[in-house]
Amino acid sequence: MKNEMKPIVVIGAGIVGVSTALWLQNQGKEVVLVDKALPGNGASMGNAGLLAQWAMVPVNAPELWKSAPKYLLSKSSPIFLKWHYFPKLLPWLIKFMANATESRSKKIIENLVPLVQDSVDQHKSLVKGTSAEKWLRDSKFSYIYKTHEAFKADAYGWKVKSGYGFIPNLVLGNDVRDEEPILSPDVRCMAVLEGQGHITNPLGYVKALFDVFQKNGGKFIKKSVKNLNTVNDHIYSVQLEDEEIICQKAVVTSGIWSKNLIKNLKIKVPLETERGYHVVYENPSVEPRNPMMITEGKFAVTPMTTGLRCAGTVELGGLNASASRKPIDFIKKVSQKTFPDLKFENTSEWMGFRPTLPDSLPMIGEIDNTGIFTGFGHQHIGMTSGPKTGFILAQLVTNNKLNLDISGYSPKRFK
Ligand SMILES: Cc1cc2nc3c(=O)[nH]c(=O)nc-3n(C[C@H](O)[C@H](O)[C@H](O)COP(=O)(O)OP(=O)(O)OC[C@H]3O[C@@H](n4cnc5c(N)ncnc54)[C@H](O)[C@@H]3O)c2cc1C
Repeated sequence: MKNEMKPIVVIGAGIVGVSTALWLQNQGKEVVLVDKALPGNGASMGNAGLLAQWAMVPVNAPELWKSAPKYLLSKSSPIFLKWHYFPKLLPWLIKFMANATESRSKKIIENLVPLVQDSVDQHKSLVKGTSAEKWLRDSKFSYIYKTHEAFKADAYGWKVKSGYGFIPNLVLGNDVRDEEPILSPDVRCMAVLEGQGHITNPLGYVKALFDVFQKNGGKFIKKSVKNLNTVNDHIYSVQLEDEEIICQKAVVTSGIWSKNLIKNLKIKVPLETERGYHVVYENPSVEPRNPMMITEGKFAVTPMTTGLRCAGTVELGGLNASASRKPIDFIKKVSQKTFPDLKFENTSEWMGFRPTLPDSLPMIGEIDNTGIFTGFGHQHIGMTSGPKTGFILAQLVTNNKLNLDISGYSPKRFK
């Protein structure tokens, strides 16, 4: 079979993989999408649904040196650590913290900006005229602070955001409850960003995008990928449990699980997970008008079709440990304090794996000239930047021009 006749295989049907598959179809390519589970069931399922155009400041910003010890020692902190995992975590953590300097942060931010800043438009252009449109909303987004002083203490983040045009309107004192009546009278400061957007059902959204992929003639195989077979250092086939898919090129968009798939390719992939949790309040008695970030709890609150979703926190504890109780209890405690009138019928809870590299940048690009492309490592902003990443990958796979310097995302940068 001529090489051009073979399909392109995309491995992993989360927001990044499905977006990539769709952009490749837009370029007229035959695509096979493979996932060990049903589409959208990884990290893409339980996130806060924010199209976080303003989220160019990484967790490992210089401020982290000040806040990390406070978080680790506090009994009421949004950061959790599974101590038994600490020895395994340490090499990654050292590299992660080494990036928390002014100069490194500046570079990281410059690279994150193109992935996030026009996310609402990126999503709109991907879903235009499809059934996925119904899950996409224009909205405002607010950071919620107990006091004006707490907002001022967040100066580093706001200075960066403002530099990219994300300048908040401040709402202070009792006016906060006019803007968002759900908030407790104890909340005295909101920093409101206009012109943002969110997804009202992340799983439904990825599924709807996947339906479009299938309607366009895309093939889906629900099996686990075991290996990438190469001949003369170029992809030849994608190996499943009981069959192989001979392919022209392969794209690894398998989130946190990507590392295993490319472990034989002589590149270093220091990928670690920032485990995150959500609580959904089903049939809530009150809802916010727009999504918000409860800064005290480092979780977002988003009105969704399934209820009021409070999603966030960070737990460092690897892939294998079971979900913890403490982050869930923490989210419940802070949300009930922040929304004192909230009543609900039931709650559902979830944990997911954010895939994070030590410099908080994803790996997007081709590994040498192997025909194997990477699209993973999107930490807290995968829902936001999935479509843009898919577009970049489709341009790279099809050798089309890209007006963007992607060297910062190089899959070989940790070599
Ligand atoms: C609590 C929480 C809140 C968040 N909130 C937001 C938010 O508001 N906005 C935002 O932008 N981001 C948010 N994120 C981050 C976002 O969810 C992730 O960055 C994003 O979902 C990653 O998408 P992905 O497609 O790379 O990976 P995933 O969605 O994890 O998809 C990877 C897929 O690969 C498949 N796979 C893995 N291994 C194999 C294999 N061997 N063979 C076949 N298939 C395989 C998996 O089954 C899975 O379907 C949040 C994350 C969490 C945990």
